[in-house]
Amino acid sequence: MAALVMVFPPLPRLRGLLQRCWGRLERSVLMGFSGGQSPPWGPALAVQAPAFFPQAVNDAGESSEAPSLLDSILWMAAPKKRRTIEVNRCRRRNPNKLIKVKRNIDVCPECGNLKQKHILCGYCYAKVKAETQLIRMEIRKKEGGPFSAPTVETVVLYEGEKPTEKDEGKRIIERARKRPSWFVQN
Ligand code: ZN
Repeated sequence: MAALVMVFPPLPRLRGLLQRCWGRLERSVLMGFSGGQSPPWGPALAVQAPAFFPQAVNDAGESSEAPSLLDSILWMAAPKKRRTIEVNRCRRRNPNKLIKVKRNIDVCPECGNLKQKHILCGYCYAKVKAETQLIRMEIRKKEGGPFSAPTVETVVLYEGEKPTEKDEGKRIIERARKRPSWFVQN
């Protein structure tokens, strides 16, 4: 407070006012102490500590946890040197990594699409599958389910075909279409 007063020596009025206020404050404080009553606001411990003191405590608390986190996550398998583009391309274009060229491709003798030599033609297989599904639907219409099938040989007759003497006693399924070229009659 003395320093505050010393700051304003050229203002005698303000100086006098401050002195009066300070004297009133001192008197009220002393009265409160001497009277034994609880003072309206008593002197409290006001420590002007350096500002970094509480932060230093916090830093110490954080630093005990932070290194373990950083060690486990951020420093995991980081490359030390940049690999050149030549090295990278040699790795990427390694013959073991490239797709092998197939030289066993042939033309399907039935439909003309390309197929692998030792593998069934996909287009022909789809055709056979669809026709087989239709034959199964005919069977279901005729017999009402797969469990009532008789234990005899089955003959599929297409449009314009008649059962011969060989087909006596066999199960006959009729299809209302022309016989496909790939469905051989035996
Ligand atoms: Zn084919």
